Amino acid sequence: MDEFALIQQYFSGIGTPSQQVVLGIGDDCALLAGHTGEQLALSVDTSLPDRHFPAQADPWAIGWRALSVAFSDLSAMAAEPVGFTLALSLPEQNPAWLQAFSQGLRAFAEAQNCPLIGGDTTRGPLAISVQVIGRAPAHRVWRRQGAQAGDLIAVLGDLGAAYAGLQSLLGDPELARDRHQWGAVEQAYMLPESRMQEALRLRDQVPVTACIDISDGLLADCQHLLAASAVAAELDLAALPIHPWLKHHWTPEQQLDAACEGGDDYALLLTLPATAWPRAHQLCPHLTIIGRCVAGAGMRNQLGTPLAPRGFKHF
Ligand code: ADP
Ligand code: MG
Repeated sequence: MDEFALIQQYFSGIGTPSQQVVLGIGDDCALLAGHTGEQLALSVDTSLPDRHFPAQADPWAIGWRALSVAFSDLSAMAAEPVGFTLALSLPEQNPAWLQAFSQGLRAFAEAQNCPLIGGDTTRGPLAISVQVIGRAPAHRVWRRQGAQAGDLIAVLGDLGAAYAGLQSLLGDPELARDRHQWGAVEQAYMLPESRMQEALRLRDQVPVTACIDISDGLLADCQHLLAASAVAAELDLAALPIHPWLKHHWTPEQQLDAACEGGDDYALLLTLPATAWPRAHQLCPHLTIIGRCVAGAGMRNQLGTPLAPRGFKHF
């Protein structure tokens, strides 16, 4: 099968094109209609075997995950999806792998209304780059910058499960092959859920002042938001929304380490004025207050002890 047949077979018709997509797969570029008063949000993420997923992992989940982690950046800026492009480097043509991979991608794309509108296909070591495109009213898009002293700090989603899932998959490599064998924590690592719907609800009804998605770990990502906003944080570590599985299976110390420093949960960390809390909580019951912004720099716990921004770093 040549690359055009491969694209046709596996990667055409993924997701329903919105009105904004004037032209999708098939020409030299995709074309998007622009709207006055809106901004486009672009982000690209590369997923590599044995770095972002076990090489032998269920290909359906590899497809889901590659799109989900890129999509999380759109949620973090409250930019609703327009579409995505896929740059794929494949070592060989394995029809069963490609079929399952494209089905996982399709499942996420269709659930989130995010059509595949173009890409690139080459032979080489397995690498999956997903570029997502979103849009938001210019005055409503969220940034890392914007948190004010006095704002509440909240987490949307729970923490620690993806780290536990990664440990489990590393400890039992065979387990990665079949997603039907996974429990809650393996799913949390390989099949992260989207926060888009809640983000858009908040965007339209609550004055969120800043946001970041938690990909490298709560403390590391919180520090990025604080630095961009030029504020400090007092965090109540006893209030963290630790995933229930960890509460049953791990010691309190392990739970805290996973929640603070483990990455890959793709929860959202956001800040908002205290007056906006009742409405925000009504719209998003899974939102948890974990602290507040204060003047200064850095992070402290509830006892005033400084917290180091430890988390995952590639280099
Ligand atoms: P060009 O050489 O002009 O860059 P290609 O031959 O690489 O174009 O691709 C042909 C069409 O197929 C383009 O519209 C491109 O966006 C699309 N395409 C290529 N690979 C993929 C893929 N993996 N997924 C989706 N669309 C793809
Ligand atoms: Mg071309």
